[in-house]
Amino acid sequence: MKNIYADYNATAIVKKKVKDSLVDWVSTYYGNPSSLHQPGQAAKHQMEAARSLVAKAMGALPAEIIFVSGGTESNVLGLLGLALQNKNKIKKVLVSSIEHSAILGQIDLIKSLGLEWAEIPVLPNGVVDLVMLEKLVDKQPVLASVMLANNETGVIQPISEIVKIVKQFNGLVHCDAVQAFGKIEVAVKELGVDTLSISGHKVGALRGIGALYVKKGLVVKSVFGKGAHEREMRPGTENLIGILSLGQACESFADWSLLIKSRQQFETKLLSQFNVKIAGYDVLRIPNTVSVSFKGANKDLLLVGLDLKGIAASAGSACKASLSLPSHVLKAMGYSPEELAGVIRFSFGPETTSEDFDYIIKSLSELLNN
Ligand code: PLP
Repeated sequence: MKNIYADYNATAIVKKKVKDSLVDWVSTYYGNPSSLHQPGQAAKHQMEAARSLVAKAMGALPAEIIFVSGGTESNVLGLLGLALQNKNKIKKVLVSSIEHSAILGQIDLIKSLGLEWAEIPVLPNGVVDLVMLEKLVDKQPVLASVMLANNETGVIQPISEIVKIVKQFNGLVHCDAVQAFGKIEVAVKELGVDTLSISGHKVGALRGIGALYVKKGLVVKSVFGKGAHEREMRPGTENLIGILSLGQACESFADWSLLIKSRQQFETKLLSQFNVKIAGYDVLRIPNTVSVSFKGANKDLLLVGLDLKGIAASAGSACKASLSLPSHVLKAMGYSPEELAGVIRFSFGPETTSEDFDYIIKSLSELLNN
């Protein structure tokens, strides 16, 4: 049977180079990077080399990178850490209505700091509404959080323009780049953001590792109290193997150009052969993501059918996959209940071939009795 993995946005397949290095890393770098003896210092040396690789991949300085446990912690530390540090300077926290639960889940904590919380709406194409952002900023210093690419639709957000609007009034910007990193260029200085999050398991490194970029000179308050690690930002012995895997995954990213071509052909076939709507079809998206609503279909039945044919896709965010709830992202884009009921997210890897795409189209035809 075919085996097509089309759920890369949930988690990517670990890179071969990373897989091949694991046993060697565990055997060679067994020391604790905080120890002063030679095994400890050898581990520390490798950790700092990995930090440089991660920094280089986003145009940052090594000192601007804090290793954390993943994308979720990175987002919490970025948004909450900025809010804690600046709670007297800012009044409002603005987050886009399509953020990941790692950001949206902070609403109560942010409000408990006495800060206002408001959501920036998106247009039907999935792009943040800049006119509404400007209104919500209301000429005041705010803390804004907008993702670079959405995990469900792949739609890329105009971060530099958002930064321009917010910075005009001395605000701060956190950016969740978890799904964009490794798929499009992420250059922190060009984006102009204050903090930015990435996650290892979305780029072919291990799970349980991520990083937060914090612009030089900026203070982000630790949410753990005063920890002894990572510039006193978090307590806990570093996840060295995870860190090394992230460093190695950042050495080079996949070439997505072939996938972009075959994805476009795939979308043309979807549109011509089925009654579908593709989220963000007319706007910039990361190369690998296609969120498609099959009108009149039931996503759960369709997913099971695809799975039985060897195609692993999802209905949206992995965190909510088991709940089968309608997507808050597509709801924010104005999808009708009928459209929401039939949504499948395909998120491909760089190795996905045009034969794979053809097999998916054929399988969909069989399942939808076309
Ligand atoms: N942000 C986005 C946009 C994501 O897609 C995810 C994971 O699905 C996360 C944050 C959380 O990352 P992690 O799984 O590393 O905690």
